[in-house]
Order: sequence, then C-alpha cells, then structure tokens
Amino acid sequence: MDRNEILYWLRETNEQRLEELWRRADNVRRRAVGDQVHLRGLIEISNVCARSCLYCGLRAPNAKIERYRLTDREILDCAAHAVQLGYGTVVMQAGEDYGVETDRLARLIRQIKSDTPLAVTLSLGERPDQDLVAWRQAGADRYLLRFETSNPKLYKIIHPDLNNRPSDRIAILRRLDQLGYEVGSGVMVGIPGQSYDDLADDIAMFRELRLHMIGVGPWLPHPDTPLAQMASQLRLPPDRQVPNDEITTYKAVALARLACPWANIPSTTALATVNQANGRELGLVRGANVVMPNLTPLRYRPLYEIYPAKACLQESPDDFHLRLRSRIHDIGRTVGAGRGDSKRQTNASSARQAETGG
Ligand code: SAH
Repeated sequence: MDRNEILYWLRETNEQRLEELWRRADNVRRRAVGDQVHLRGLIEISNVCARSCLYCGLRAPNAKIERYRLTDREILDCAAHAVQLGYGTVVMQAGEDYGVETDRLARLIRQIKSDTPLAVTLSLGERPDQDLVAWRQAGADRYLLRFETSNPKLYKIIHPDLNNRPSDRIAILRRLDQLGYEVGSGVMVGIPGQSYDDLADDIAMFRELRLHMIGVGPWLPHPDTPLAQMASQLRLPPDRQVPNDEITTYKAVALARLACPWANIPSTTALATVNQANGRELGLVRGANVVMPNLTPLRYRPLYEIYPAKACLQESPDDFHLRLRSRIHDIGRTVGAGRGDSKRQTNASSARQAETGG
C-alpha cells in the first residue's frame, strides 16, 4: 500500500467503493491476528495532569474539573475485577501526573504481576526515562503513547512543551521499544489543521515505528479547551482538512490494519462516542481486534473527561461486559483468551531468541 493509495482511500467518499477498503482490512485482520477480540480493562488511575495540551479536558489549566487519584486499594480491586471478568490485560491510564510516584507505581505493578496473570499496560504520558526503566523492571509489559500527529508544526501548536523540555514522543516510542515494552501509539483524526497529507504520513509512521498497538479516534472538541475555541482559525480549506467524523476514523483504522497487519488495534471509546449505537462493532469489522472496557469505579468516570459525553459513562463493568460479549458473538467473533500479546516480537524477546539461537 503506497502513499498515493492511502491518500486515495482517505479522500474516497463513495460508500460502495469504500466497501472494498472495509473488506480488505477485515480480511487482513482475520489472516494476521484472527477472530479473537482481546479485551483490555481500562483503569483511569488519575485525572491530574501537569501538561496543557490544547485538545484535552484534563489539561492543567482547566480549573473546572474536580481532580482525583485512585488509592492502591481501588487500583488493585479494579485489577481483581479484570481477572474476574476474564480479561488478560489491565491498562493503567492517567494524565501526566507526577503525584503518581515512580516507586508507588512500581510497587503496584509488582503486586498485580505477582497476584494475577494479567499483562500490564501503562499510558501515563511522557514520564522521564528512569520511570520507564523502573516500571519495565517492575514487570510492566506495554506502553501506550500517541504521537497525536506526525506534522511537527501542528504538534507544537496542540501539545506545548513542559518546563521547556522539547516534547519528542517519537523518541520516547523508540526508547520504549528498546526497553522491551510492546509499544502502542496513534493519532487523533480530524484535528483542526490536519491535512490529508498529514494523516497519510501518520499511517506511514505507524509502519516505520513497527508499532505493536495502534489507537486512532476522532478529535472531539471539549468546550473548556483552547483547541475547541480556535478550531475555526486552524481549520484548513475543506479540500485539505481531514474531517473528525466517523467514516474518516474507520478509514484510518482500516488503513492502519493494512499498513501494520500484525498490530493490535482497538475499536476506541472515541469511536463508540461518535456512534453510540454500533461504532464499536463497525470498528471491529473494519480492521480492529481489541476493545478496552472501562473498569474505573463509576463515581470517578465523569471526572476523566478528556472529551465530553464519553461513551459508557454510567455503565457498570458487569453490564457492559455481558452486552459486549454478545455483540462480539453477533459479528461472528470470539472473546480473546489469555493476554493477547502482539504477534510482533518485542525487541527484548527477539534479542533473547538470538542469544539462545531460537
Ligand atoms: N496523558 C496520557 C494518556 C491520557 S490521554 C497521554 O497523554 O498519553 C489518551 C489519549 O486521548 C490522548 O493520547 C489523545 O489522543 C486522546 N484525546 C485527548 N483529548 C482528546 C479529545 N478532545 N478528543 C479525542 N481524543 C482525545
């Protein structure tokens, strides 16, 4: 799939012709990663954030949200819940919160890894190298850090540096790979100022980084963020601007699958938010093979408002789980068993194999 073909599909609007893209993505998904849909229990461990990203409702300057941090007990209860529901992975996500201390999190990771068979994924922002090293040593398996856009000018606008340290997520992603994490990244679709060329470059970047996991969702304007307020100034002319709509997000999911056949690709909550009725299923039949059900205690959910009206704000994990299982079966798929590791080896395991000649 070359760049021109990616651009062709991104600009295609004819629904009948798009069927071919969906079919191709679904076929590649089936052959490369099979029919299992892996479930990752999401624990939103803190909504405190040091950064001022222009798109995100958790940004430090947003004084309108009440901040929370889960206790050790709450986090371990969520992990136990994940095991009880049969999930193979927990994802601990937060704002870039330095109040989530390196050692405390390392202790929690060790505890989860010794008490349960769960894979542990972290999504905690651009933490310093020593944190990434410590957590990997504690047993963390995977790390998610979206590069958001591969256009450096646009990235600089929407993602200001912290304390004058230049933000280089691509460098961190390469470092995570070196440390032996399974590495996940992704972008928002339809950021004001994002061109079709930019999104084609993003997809090429997924491939270049040889990502184990790719998450894409539409940019959803949060009224208490500068990006929502500046959108009309930043937006490109309609023939160049990527729309932040449902169909364009499916295209990005499908193209990510074609670019990276082996990757684990979630059908994201942002997609389920733009189409509450069946966004999640449509993502799964157009390239995705992962769902991340939310296990955060219900009383904290409304506070983790990266964008408004997130899907499943009020749904208990048990109800959601039952409905999700039947929806997965309805589209002819099965619920994944085990950890659902990436089929692409981590650097560490290929190095080990090289050493043992295996
Ligand atoms: N603080 C961590 C993880 C939390 S945010 C980090 O920055 O990596 C997780 C993802 O949510 C972000 O990477 C971004 O792609 C997405 N996100 C944030 N605000 C959003 C918005 N307004 N609309 C859609 N997605 C958003």
